[in-house]
Amino acid sequence: MEHLLKGAPVAAAIRERARSVSDGLAARGITVTLAVLEIGERPDNAAYVRGIQKNAGSCGVSLRHVTLPEDIPQEAAREAVEALSRDEAVHGILLLRPLPKHLDEAALCGSICPDKDVDCATDLSLSGVFAGKKLGFAPCTAQAVLEILKYYGAALSGARCAVVGRSLVVGRPLAMLLLEENATVTVCHSKTKDLAAVTREADIVVAAMGRAKALDGRYFRDGQILIDVGIHRLEDGTMCGDIDFAQAEAKAAAITPVPGGVGAVTTAVMLEHVTQAAERLSQPMRQKGTDS
Ligand code: NAP
Repeated sequence: MEHLLKGAPVAAAIRERARSVSDGLAARGITVTLAVLEIGERPDNAAYVRGIQKNAGSCGVSLRHVTLPEDIPQEAAREAVEALSRDEAVHGILLLRPLPKHLDEAALCGSICPDKDVDCATDLSLSGVFAGKKLGFAPCTAQAVLEILKYYGAALSGARCAVVGRSLVVGRPLAMLLLEENATVTVCHSKTKDLAAVTREADIVVAAMGRAKALDGRYFRDGQILIDVGIHRLEDGTMCGDIDFAQAEAKAAAITPVPGGVGAVTTAVMLEHVTQAAERLSQPMRQKGTDS
Protein backbone atom coordinates (compact mmCIF):
# COMPACT_ATOMS: atom_id res chain seq x y z
CA MET A 1 0.00 0.00 0.00
CA GLU A 2 1.19 3.52 -0.78
CA HIS A 3 2.19 5.69 2.18
CA LEU A 4 0.31 8.82 1.14
CA LEU A 5 -3.30 7.98 0.34
CA LYS A 6 -4.12 10.82 -2.02
CA GLY A 7 -7.75 11.37 -2.94
CA ALA A 8 -7.16 12.47 -6.53
CA PRO A 9 -6.67 9.05 -8.18
CA VAL A 10 -9.59 7.61 -6.19
CA ALA A 11 -11.82 10.48 -7.34
CA ALA A 12 -10.65 10.04 -10.93
CA ALA A 13 -11.58 6.35 -10.90
CA ILE A 14 -15.03 7.17 -9.46
CA ARG A 15 -15.60 9.90 -12.07
CA GLU A 16 -14.71 7.41 -14.79
CA ARG A 17 -17.33 4.97 -13.50
CA ALA A 18 -19.87 7.78 -13.30
CA ARG A 19 -19.05 8.85 -16.84
CA SER A 20 -19.65 5.39 -18.25
CA VAL A 21 -23.13 5.32 -16.63
CA SER A 22 -24.04 8.83 -17.83
CA ASP A 23 -22.76 8.06 -21.35
CA GLY A 24 -25.05 5.03 -21.47
CA LEU A 25 -27.99 7.15 -20.37
CA ALA A 26 -27.10 9.92 -22.83
CA ALA A 27 -27.26 7.34 -25.63
CA ARG A 28 -30.88 6.77 -24.53
CA GLY A 29 -31.59 10.52 -24.63
CA ILE A 30 -31.32 11.07 -20.86
CA THR A 31 -29.28 14.01 -19.58
CA VAL A 32 -28.24 13.16 -16.05
CA THR A 33 -29.09 16.22 -13.95
CA LEU A 34 -28.26 17.27 -10.40
CA ALA A 35 -30.19 20.07 -8.72
CA VAL A 36 -28.15 21.89 -6.07
CA LEU A 37 -30.48 23.81 -3.77
CA GLU A 38 -28.84 26.61 -1.82
CA ILE A 39 -30.75 28.70 0.72
CA GLY A 40 -28.93 31.87 1.70
CA GLU A 41 -25.21 32.37 1.12
CA ARG A 42 -22.37 30.68 2.99
CA PRO A 43 -18.71 30.84 1.90
CA ASP A 44 -18.19 27.10 2.53
CA ASN A 45 -21.23 26.32 0.36
CA ALA A 46 -19.77 28.45 -2.43
CA ALA A 47 -16.54 26.42 -2.32
CA TYR A 48 -18.51 23.16 -2.41
CA VAL A 49 -20.61 24.34 -5.36
CA ARG A 50 -17.44 25.40 -7.23
CA GLY A 51 -16.05 21.89 -6.69
CA ILE A 52 -19.26 20.35 -8.04
CA GLN A 53 -19.25 22.67 -11.06
CA LYS A 54 -15.62 21.78 -11.77
CA ASN A 55 -16.24 18.03 -11.72
CA ALA A 56 -19.80 17.57 -12.98
CA GLY A 57 -18.90 17.82 -16.67
CA SER A 58 -16.32 15.03 -16.51
CA CYS A 59 -19.00 12.79 -14.93
CA GLY A 60 -21.49 13.69 -17.65
CA VAL A 61 -23.74 15.38 -15.08
CA SER A 62 -25.61 18.57 -15.90
CA LEU A 63 -26.09 21.04 -13.03
CA ARG A 64 -29.10 23.08 -12.04
CA HIS A 65 -28.11 25.51 -9.29
CA VAL A 66 -31.18 26.83 -7.51
CA THR A 67 -30.62 29.65 -5.03
CA LEU A 68 -33.31 30.80 -2.63
CA PRO A 69 -33.26 33.86 -0.35
CA GLU A 70 -31.93 33.48 3.20
CA ASP A 71 -35.26 34.57 4.73
CA ILE A 72 -37.48 32.26 2.66
CA PRO A 73 -40.43 30.93 4.71
CA GLN A 74 -40.57 27.20 5.48
CA GLU A 75 -43.58 26.63 3.25
CA ALA A 76 -41.95 28.22 0.19
CA ALA A 77 -38.73 26.26 0.77
CA ARG A 78 -40.75 23.05 1.04
CA GLU A 79 -42.52 23.83 -2.24
CA ALA A 80 -39.14 24.35 -3.94
CA VAL A 81 -37.88 20.96 -2.72
CA GLU A 82 -41.11 19.24 -3.74
CA ALA A 83 -41.02 20.84 -7.20
CA LEU A 84 -37.53 19.40 -7.77
CA SER A 85 -38.70 16.04 -6.42
CA ARG A 86 -41.52 15.98 -8.99
CA ASP A 87 -39.39 17.25 -11.89
CA GLU A 88 -38.64 14.24 -14.13
CA ALA A 89 -35.64 16.02 -15.67
CA VAL A 90 -33.93 16.10 -12.24
CA HIS A 91 -32.28 12.88 -10.99
CA GLY A 92 -30.45 14.04 -7.88
CA ILE A 93 -31.20 16.72 -5.28
CA LEU A 94 -28.51 18.15 -3.03
CA LEU A 95 -29.84 20.45 -0.32
CA LEU A 96 -26.85 22.39 1.00
CA ARG A 97 -26.70 22.37 4.78
CA PRO A 98 -26.69 23.78 7.39
CA LEU A 99 -29.82 25.74 6.54
CA PRO A 100 -30.71 29.18 7.95
CA LYS A 101 -31.78 28.73 11.57
CA HIS A 102 -35.48 29.57 11.11
CA LEU A 103 -35.98 26.58 8.79
CA ASP A 104 -36.90 23.07 9.92
CA GLU A 105 -34.04 21.12 8.34
CA ALA A 106 -35.42 17.65 9.08
CA ALA A 107 -38.79 18.53 7.52
CA LEU A 108 -37.16 19.91 4.37
CA CYS A 109 -34.87 16.90 4.02
CA GLY A 110 -37.98 14.74 4.41
CA SER A 111 -39.50 16.46 1.38
CA ILE A 112 -36.71 15.21 -0.89
CA CYS A 113 -37.87 12.33 -3.06
CA PRO A 114 -35.89 9.36 -1.60
CA ASP A 115 -35.01 8.16 -5.12
CA LYS A 116 -33.18 11.46 -5.72
CA ASP A 117 -31.56 11.69 -2.28
CA VAL A 118 -27.90 11.53 -3.36
CA ASP A 119 -26.37 12.49 0.02
CA CYS A 120 -28.45 10.51 2.51
CA ALA A 121 -30.59 13.41 3.74
CA THR A 122 -33.75 11.33 4.18
CA ASP A 123 -34.58 8.86 6.94
CA LEU A 124 -35.15 6.13 4.34
CA SER A 125 -31.60 6.43 2.96
CA LEU A 126 -30.15 6.50 6.46
CA SER A 127 -32.17 3.49 7.58
CA GLY A 128 -30.84 1.62 4.55
CA VAL A 129 -27.28 2.28 5.67
CA PHE A 130 -28.05 1.07 9.20
CA ALA A 131 -30.03 -1.98 8.05
CA GLY A 132 -27.38 -2.93 5.47
CA LYS A 133 -29.98 -2.62 2.69
CA LYS A 134 -29.61 -0.56 -0.45
CA LEU A 135 -32.64 1.67 0.08
CA GLY A 136 -30.81 4.77 -1.11
CA PHE A 137 -27.31 6.21 -1.04
CA ALA A 138 -24.88 6.41 1.87
CA PRO A 139 -23.63 9.81 3.05
CA CYS A 140 -20.97 10.86 0.52
CA THR A 141 -18.19 11.60 3.03
CA ALA A 142 -18.62 8.28 4.83
CA GLN A 143 -18.58 6.45 1.51
CA ALA A 144 -15.54 8.46 0.37
CA VAL A 145 -13.59 7.00 3.29
CA LEU A 146 -14.53 3.49 2.21
CA GLU A 147 -13.67 4.24 -1.42
CA ILE A 148 -10.16 5.35 -0.38
CA LEU A 149 -9.59 2.25 1.74
CA LYS A 150 -10.76 -0.04 -1.05
CA TYR A 151 -8.89 1.76 -3.83
CA TYR A 152 -5.59 1.41 -1.98
CA GLY A 153 -6.28 -2.22 -1.10
CA ALA A 154 -6.71 -2.01 2.67
CA ALA A 155 -7.69 -5.37 4.13
CA LEU A 156 -11.00 -4.62 5.83
CA SER A 157 -12.37 -8.05 6.71
CA GLY A 158 -11.51 -8.70 10.35
CA ALA A 159 -9.59 -5.40 10.67
CA ARG A 160 -9.97 -3.47 13.92
CA CYS A 161 -11.26 -0.01 13.02
CA ALA A 162 -11.56 2.93 15.40
CA VAL A 163 -13.93 5.62 14.12
CA VAL A 164 -13.53 8.81 16.15
CA GLY A 165 -16.81 10.73 15.83
CA ARG A 166 -20.41 9.57 15.94
CA SER A 167 -22.27 12.15 13.83
CA LEU A 168 -25.08 10.96 11.58
CA VAL A 169 -23.24 12.45 8.61
CA VAL A 170 -19.87 10.75 9.02
CA GLY A 171 -19.01 8.62 12.05
CA ARG A 172 -22.09 6.44 12.56
CA PRO A 173 -22.84 5.64 8.91
CA LEU A 174 -19.16 4.98 8.29
CA ALA A 175 -19.15 2.50 11.17
CA MET A 176 -22.04 0.69 9.46
CA LEU A 177 -20.28 0.67 6.08
CA LEU A 178 -17.13 -0.76 7.67
CA LEU A 179 -19.22 -3.37 9.48
CA GLU A 180 -20.68 -4.39 6.12
CA GLU A 181 -17.08 -5.05 5.05
CA ASN A 182 -16.70 -7.33 8.09
CA ALA A 183 -14.43 -4.98 9.99
CA THR A 184 -14.59 -4.93 13.79
CA VAL A 185 -15.58 -1.38 14.54
CA THR A 186 -15.27 0.74 17.68
CA VAL A 187 -17.09 4.08 17.55
CA CYS A 188 -15.50 6.75 19.76
CA HIS A 189 -16.84 10.13 20.88
CA SER A 190 -16.20 12.94 23.32
CA LYS A 191 -17.06 10.76 26.34
CA THR A 192 -14.82 7.85 25.32
CA LYS A 193 -12.41 7.01 28.15
CA ASP A 194 -8.72 6.75 27.26
CA LEU A 195 -9.25 7.42 23.57
CA ALA A 196 -5.54 6.91 22.87
CA ALA A 197 -5.73 3.33 24.13
CA VAL A 198 -8.58 2.62 21.70
CA THR A 199 -6.96 4.29 18.68
CA ARG A 200 -3.55 2.70 19.32
CA GLU A 201 -5.19 -0.74 19.40
CA ALA A 202 -6.81 -0.31 15.96
CA ASP A 203 -5.45 -1.32 12.57
CA ILE A 204 -7.33 1.52 10.89
CA VAL A 205 -8.18 4.85 12.55
CA VAL A 206 -10.67 7.26 11.01
CA ALA A 207 -10.70 10.75 12.56
CA ALA A 208 -14.00 12.61 12.13
CA MET A 209 -14.10 14.81 15.22
CA GLY A 210 -14.04 18.37 13.94
CA ARG A 211 -11.03 19.25 16.19
CA ALA A 212 -7.94 20.58 14.45
CA LYS A 213 -4.85 18.38 14.98
CA ALA A 214 -6.52 16.80 18.05
CA LEU A 215 -4.98 13.38 17.42
CA ASP A 216 -1.22 13.77 17.82
CA GLY A 217 1.49 11.12 17.88
CA ARG A 218 0.39 9.76 21.26
CA TYR A 219 -2.79 8.36 19.70
CA PHE A 220 -1.01 6.10 17.23
CA ARG A 221 1.36 3.17 17.00
CA ASP A 222 3.56 2.09 14.13
CA GLY A 223 2.00 0.52 11.07
CA GLN A 224 -1.57 1.82 11.16
CA ILE A 225 -3.74 3.14 8.34
CA LEU A 226 -4.93 6.65 9.22
CA ILE A 227 -7.83 8.38 7.46
CA ASP A 228 -8.47 12.03 8.29
CA VAL A 229 -11.96 13.34 7.56
CA GLY A 230 -11.48 16.62 9.43
CA ILE A 231 -10.88 19.80 7.53
CA HIS A 232 -9.93 23.09 9.17
CA ARG A 233 -8.52 26.42 8.02
CA LEU A 234 -5.98 27.73 10.53
CA GLU A 235 -5.40 31.41 11.29
CA ASP A 236 -2.34 31.48 9.02
CA GLY A 237 -4.55 30.33 6.13
CA THR A 238 -3.17 26.78 5.95
CA MET A 239 -5.45 23.74 6.06
CA CYS A 240 -5.21 20.80 8.43
CA GLY A 241 -7.23 17.82 9.59
CA ASP A 242 -8.16 16.26 12.93
CA ILE A 243 -4.86 14.35 12.89
CA ASP A 244 -1.55 16.08 13.55
CA PHE A 245 -0.06 14.99 10.24
CA ALA A 246 3.58 15.79 11.09
CA GLN A 247 3.51 13.57 14.19
CA ALA A 248 1.32 10.79 12.82
CA GLU A 249 2.89 10.40 9.41
CA ALA A 250 6.19 8.98 10.66
CA LYS A 251 4.39 6.15 12.47
CA ALA A 252 1.66 5.40 9.94
CA ALA A 253 1.85 2.70 7.29
CA ALA A 254 -0.47 4.90 5.25
CA ILE A 255 -2.20 8.23 5.83
CA THR A 256 -4.50 10.61 3.95
CA PRO A 257 -3.31 14.20 3.46
CA VAL A 258 -5.44 17.27 4.29
CA PRO A 259 -6.22 18.85 1.93
CA GLY A 260 -6.17 16.37 -0.94
CA GLY A 261 -7.50 13.32 0.90
CA VAL A 262 -11.11 12.50 1.80
CA GLY A 263 -12.42 15.90 0.71
CA ALA A 264 -11.15 15.33 -2.82
CA VAL A 265 -13.24 12.15 -3.09
CA THR A 266 -16.55 13.31 -1.57
CA THR A 267 -17.75 15.30 -4.59
CA ALA A 268 -16.94 12.46 -6.99
CA VAL A 269 -18.95 10.05 -4.83
CA MET A 270 -21.93 12.43 -4.86
CA LEU A 271 -21.79 12.82 -8.64
CA GLU A 272 -21.62 9.05 -9.09
CA HIS A 273 -24.72 8.76 -6.89
CA VAL A 274 -26.52 11.13 -9.29
CA THR A 275 -25.70 8.89 -12.26
CA GLN A 276 -26.82 5.81 -10.32
CA ALA A 277 -30.04 7.56 -9.29
CA ALA A 278 -30.70 8.47 -12.94
CA GLU A 279 -30.11 4.87 -13.97
CA ARG A 280 -32.54 3.57 -11.35
CA LEU A 281 -35.14 6.20 -12.21
CA SER A 282 -34.89 5.28 -15.90
CA GLN A 283 -35.85 1.66 -15.25
CA PRO A 284 -39.57 1.42 -16.10
CA MET A 285 -40.43 -1.67 -14.03
CA ARG A 286 -38.42 -0.82 -10.92
CA GLN A 287 -40.04 -0.95 -7.50
CA LYS A 288 -39.54 2.41 -5.85
CA GLY A 289 -37.18 2.45 -2.86
CA THR A 290 -36.55 -1.27 -2.85
CA ASP A 291 -34.26 -1.96 -5.77
CA SER A 292 -30.49 -2.05 -5.47
P1 NAP B 1 -19.70 16.78 14.29
O1 NAP B 1 -21.13 16.62 13.93
O2 NAP B 1 -19.27 18.00 15.05
O3 NAP B 1 -19.29 15.49 15.15
C1 NAP B 1 -18.04 15.42 15.78
C2 NAP B 1 -17.94 14.11 16.52
O4 NAP B 1 -16.64 14.04 17.08
C3 NAP B 1 -18.95 13.96 17.65
O5 NAP B 1 -19.48 12.66 17.65
C4 NAP B 1 -18.12 14.22 18.89
O6 NAP B 1 -18.53 13.48 20.03
C5 NAP B 1 -16.76 13.73 18.46
N1 NAP B 1 -15.70 14.41 19.20
C6 NAP B 1 -15.53 15.74 19.36
N2 NAP B 1 -14.48 15.98 20.14
C7 NAP B 1 -13.99 14.78 20.50
C8 NAP B 1 -12.91 14.38 21.32
N3 NAP B 1 -12.11 15.25 21.94
N4 NAP B 1 -12.67 13.05 21.46
C9 NAP B 1 -13.45 12.14 20.83
N5 NAP B 1 -14.51 12.47 20.05
C10 NAP B 1 -14.76 13.78 19.89
O7 NAP B 1 -18.75 16.71 13.03
P2 NAP B 1 -18.98 15.99 11.58
O8 NAP B 1 -20.02 16.71 10.82
O9 NAP B 1 -19.11 14.51 11.77
O10 NAP B 1 -17.59 16.30 10.91
C11 NAP B 1 -16.37 15.84 11.44
C12 NAP B 1 -15.21 16.50 10.72
O11 NAP B 1 -15.26 16.12 9.36
C13 NAP B 1 -15.24 18.04 10.71
O12 NAP B 1 -13.91 18.51 10.79
C14 NAP B 1 -15.83 18.39 9.35
O13 NAP B 1 -15.38 19.64 8.88
C15 NAP B 1 -15.26 17.27 8.53
N6 NAP B 1 -16.05 16.95 7.32
C16 NAP B 1 -15.35 16.73 6.19
C17 NAP B 1 -16.01 16.39 5.04
C18 NAP B 1 -15.20 16.09 3.81
O14 NAP B 1 -15.74 15.91 2.72
N7 NAP B 1 -13.88 15.97 3.94
C19 NAP B 1 -17.41 16.31 5.02
C20 NAP B 1 -18.11 16.50 6.21
C21 NAP B 1 -17.40 16.81 7.37
P3 NAP B 1 -19.95 13.69 20.77
O15 NAP B 1 -20.96 13.00 19.89
O16 NAP B 1 -19.80 13.04 22.09
O17 NAP B 1 -20.17 15.17 20.84
